[in-house]
Amino acid sequence: MKKQYDSLADLKRGIYLWIVPLIVTALILNTVMQNSPIENKMSFIINNALTIWLFICWVLVIKRRWVKFAEYSCLALITIYHIATFFDTVSHYLLPSGGALGDFIVWMPIYLAFIYLTLGVKKGLPFSILVFLLTLVDGLIYFDRLSTDSLDSLLQYYFANFVYVIVLYYAQHIFKVYAEAQLIKKHAYLDSLTGIANRHQIDGWFEQKLKDSKEMNISFSVIFFDIDHFKMINDQFGHKVGDAILIEIADLIQKKLVVRELFGRWGGEEFIIIPTVTGKGAINLAELLRETVAQHDFHIVGQLTASFGVTESLPEDTIDSLLTRVDEGLYQSKHRGRNKVSSVS
Ligand code: GH3
Ligand code: MG
Ligand code: MG
Repeated sequence: MKKQYDSLADLKRGIYLWIVPLIVTALILNTVMQNSPIENKMSFIINNALTIWLFICWVLVIKRRWVKFAEYSCLALITIYHIATFFDTVSHYLLPSGGALGDFIVWMPIYLAFIYLTLGVKKGLPFSILVFLLTLVDGLIYFDRLSTDSLDSLLQYYFANFVYVIVLYYAQHIFKVYAEAQLIKKHAYLDSLTGIANRHQIDGWFEQKLKDSKEMNISFSVIFFDIDHFKMINDQFGHKVGDAILIEIADLIQKKLVVRELFGRWGGEEFIIIPTVTGKGAINLAELLRETVAQHDFHIVGQLTASFGVTESLPEDTIDSLLTRVDEGLYQSKHRGRNKVSSVS
């Protein structure tokens, strides 16, 4: 399954996790190859200090500590490094000997992506334009003293930089819209209280499962359960405690299921499971879950029970017929005194 992110900040963090190592690698290569124009101790120290600081920030981002501080300090340092190295390249390298700014053209999109990620689209655009203008002013100072080759290289760099600013601006826009749409989509399928799948998602699962079972001529099981006397809990302890119980039960059940088993909140205090096991296996699983709930200590509420219905899909089933049958199982469990598992075929 594709990795899901809970927020834009999470998605951003996911990108930092690979973009920062990329920058660190570029810096290490730069240090190792010593192709910096200032081939002296100073550049060596700056490169290493920056590498170490970026690595520290990367760890901070992973550990989710001082993330803002890590982001801004890295951006400030990389910006100073970028501008200083550019100024230095133009005056010490391009001016006397002619040459290319290839390193910068490769490095620029990574740096710009970092700007947009840290500052967002609104602040990122003026910031990247400001950096561009600073390098432009520097170039203009030496403009009439540069050889044709150097001038060519410089103009290429400006052009590439300008294109990167625009392209990344739009890319970041598209990325933001896409990320937001993904999050909206994700939350449309999640129950806001318990964080597990909601009815909308369960409907989708049923559609898919029924389609697969018809195509492959296999059946699947459904477990439906409802907390016993839940209204009394609300009446006795209040709605907030009732909510906390729903979250706790969802968590308790989720922990007992394997990853591929589908679990969601059908509504109120009713939950549905589509297990990987079928037939007797599904009944045994329901029995295990019933016991788990009955034996759990729900703090101030104490002991609780739930009633279960189990059924197996038939080739002619629709979502409605399947749910009617499993609901019938649940009804039988309630009728038999609750805290029971009933299977209907
Ligand atoms: P039974 O054993 O027959 O299932 O009895 P019950 O009291 O659990 O059943 P009933 O359907 O009468 O009551 C369900 C209660 O669940 C009523 C409603 O207030 C409560 N409920 C439904 N959704 C929520 C919720 O999101 N939060 C809380 N706190 N209570 C909820
Ligand atoms: Mg109930
Ligand atoms: Mg109910």
